[in-house]
Amino acid sequence: MNRFPVRKVAVLGAGVMGAQIAAHLVNVKVPVVLFDLPAQVQDGAGAPASAASKNGIVTKAVDGLKKLKPSPLGVPEDAALIQQANYDEHLDLLKECDLVIEAIAERMDWKLDLYKKIAPALAPHAIVASNTSGLSITKLSEVLPETIKPRFCGIHFFNPPRYMYLVELISTPTTQPEVIDQLEAFVTSAVGKGVVRAKDTPNFVANRVGIAGMLATMKEAQTFGLSYDVVDDLTGKKLGRASSGTFRTADVVGLDTMAHVIKTLQDNLADDPFFPSYATPDVLTRLIDAGALGQKSGAGFFKKVGRDILRFDAATGDYVPADKKADEIIARILKKAPAERLKLLRESTNPQAQFLWAILRDGFHYAAVHLADIAESAREVDFAMRWGFGTSQGPFELWQAAGWKQVAEWVKADIDAGKALSKAPLPAWVFDGRDGVHTPDGSWSPSQNKYIARSKLPVYQRQCFPEALVGDGSVSPLQAGTELFKNDEVRVWTLDNEVVIASITAKLHLISPLVIEGLLKAVEIAEQSYKGVVIWSPDDVFSAGANLEALMPVFMKTGGKGILPEVKRLQDALLHVRYATVPVVAAMRGIALGGGCEIAVASAKRVASMETYVGLVEVGVGLIPGGGGLTYIARRAAEMAAAGNANADIFAFLKDGFTNAAMAKVGTSAIESRKLGYLLDSDTIVPNKDELLHVAITEARAMFDAGYRAPHKKLFPVAGRNAKATIQGQLANMRDGGFISAHDYHISSLIADVVTGGDVDAGSMVTEEYLMALERKHFCALLDHPKTQERIMGMLQTGKPVRN
Ligand code: NAD
Repeated sequence: MNRFPVRKVAVLGAGVMGAQIAAHLVNVKVPVVLFDLPAQVQDGAGAPASAASKNGIVTKAVDGLKKLKPSPLGVPEDAALIQQANYDEHLDLLKECDLVIEAIAERMDWKLDLYKKIAPALAPHAIVASNTSGLSITKLSEVLPETIKPRFCGIHFFNPPRYMYLVELISTPTTQPEVIDQLEAFVTSAVGKGVVRAKDTPNFVANRVGIAGMLATMKEAQTFGLSYDVVDDLTGKKLGRASSGTFRTADVVGLDTMAHVIKTLQDNLADDPFFPSYATPDVLTRLIDAGALGQKSGAGFFKKVGRDILRFDAATGDYVPADKKADEIIARILKKAPAERLKLLRESTNPQAQFLWAILRDGFHYAAVHLADIAESAREVDFAMRWGFGTSQGPFELWQAAGWKQVAEWVKADIDAGKALSKAPLPAWVFDGRDGVHTPDGSWSPSQNKYIARSKLPVYQRQCFPEALVGDGSVSPLQAGTELFKNDEVRVWTLDNEVVIASITAKLHLISPLVIEGLLKAVEIAEQSYKGVVIWSPDDVFSAGANLEALMPVFMKTGGKGILPEVKRLQDALLHVRYATVPVVAAMRGIALGGGCEIAVASAKRVASMETYVGLVEVGVGLIPGGGGLTYIARRAAEMAAAGNANADIFAFLKDGFTNAAMAKVGTSAIESRKLGYLLDSDTIVPNKDELLHVAITEARAMFDAGYRAPHKKLFPVAGRNAKATIQGQLANMRDGGFISAHDYHISSLIADVVTGGDVDAGSMVTEEYLMALERKHFCALLDHPKTQERIMGMLQTGKPVRN
């Protein structure tokens, strides 16, 4: 196996990108040292800076990471794991680093100076990579000593690096192919990113195509007289793109940053047939001159004033209300299948439709003309746009899905009619009789004049279902493998004939009787002839909890009492999962709330992607967890107390668990979810979402092969009535101080009743069934409470919690 053991990474430059890249490396457990210039600080007497203060720039950046939103770190306290360094004192630390990522300011001369400075200190095998957005990687490599050149390349992260999936890797003519392969494997599996290889051309792939697309959108918006709010509504979710649309995306990126990327296009692409369309829009210059740089300076194309969103009005220079939306008819057209959608947009006389057809046409035109120069194949362009700009499909995919030949004719006709942004004709390969660029054999490469298959690097064997492209013949995970059982909400299947996979297919994977049936079936089948069960679904959610709406008919007829057997069925099923004779592994990604969290904690093991958000949120709808969640909290407290000290006070271990449930806390990452106690230290956090299934199956199989036995069913001690009284005293203070409502007090008291075991002596031994009976009783009583009903109805109707 081709191993590239990265013991430590050095990140050079603790600015916006460097600091956040370092933070993400900490998230994925890669040791990291973060460098910046020595701070020019003098102490009071004018003596040279003290050793500590020379790290001043880095220290400030690391502190800043704890406050940044969205958080670059899984938990803020992990900022302490970033080793701080400066170039004056700590260059010798570089010899421990297997990878050096340079992310200093975007100036060729500064970067070159730095490379010269660090070169003698580097480990002889270290890979050195620049995070530049716009400078030529080949030019940067030219000053490097011959020994470093083969190990130098570009590594282009997107902001914010924790959340953006795309990383572009760029070779120079002297980069050794094995080096890029090693780096791709590391960035994919250990860092958890989607790698696209880009050619060394200005702005690489995503920013080249993406920024050209934004400029085209701004231009066509002007041509068709559409305001920013309408354009953003049209070019956001409705068009299958990032919800921030176009102008708000520019605000988020920063208008100065955007201008910088545009300037790279202007400075380097004089021969590009699209050169005139790289002109900086007047309004962008005006806003930048006025200091309106977007979100970071509080105003840009949009400005938030109190609760209102205003938009810049170029005609008057004022900010005016931004409340206009796309026309209803256009929204309806955008829901149609691709072929019909494009046809209707093109034929409509509605300016919004004309605008949309124009920007799609410009996008197809641009991508086709530039493909040969910027990327090896169409696959790189489509993935770069999906992963770097948040589109649901790349330009080539949409074109292919809408009917390649027809769309090609339409684009050609517009070019001929002078409607396109450039007169450059579509390349000949577009018209060679093809039906698209993606096929089961690979994606089209105009520069190599053939279809190129996906990368065969061993790291991709860890992805059971890599992201599919239109036309690439991939089998959907919900049709793959051997099906063992299926109902309307769960598919039970196997990929390897060793481990059973249970995939919940219900909306938001809400838990219903059918879901319970499916999970039980999966366990039953596995217990007969497989090694274990993995609960995994291909989409970005584990489970949003119980399906309350589905309980409504029964509830209407019989009230809370009638729900009792339903709750018991869920509890029994989850006990069955916990005590199954084979290991059940929850493969988690996205939200795992309420009942979703309860499925996870009942499992023998959890394998979670970094972006997993777990919590018991039932109080939001006026309920308490009823599927064993509180029983889990009580049991864990007893286990932790026993592990620490035989006489330890269970209450001390209970407090956090109680608070997390009573306040409906949800982890903002897998790491924080573990801190809340919903994942254990022995659980696995997987950096790359696409490796989740592979890792979970591997874990289940390994547990079985290691002789898995279910845990003993045993009694455990609870904290009892005194602990409950203490909690209630504190709750009463919060209620009387106006921090929580009377109903919150009531619900929290019921939670306290379950987790302490209720009216029993401290240290009383209980069973899980005993606590679950308490959960059930309180859950159903709450259902009959009018304030809980108000909360449930509010949530079902508006999706927002009602505070009462
Ligand atoms: P930044 O301005 O936030 O940080 C730059 C850092 O470089 C600062 O910490 C500064 O102290 C340091 N620095 C400045 N001059 C230096 C010198 N002469 N020697 C050593 N260090 C020096 O910049 P950023 O936005 O983090 O960008 C860093 C790199 O990442 C750039 O190459 C940029 O093109 C690229 N990039 C930026 C983004 C983005 O969205 N900001 C995205 C992808 C890539």
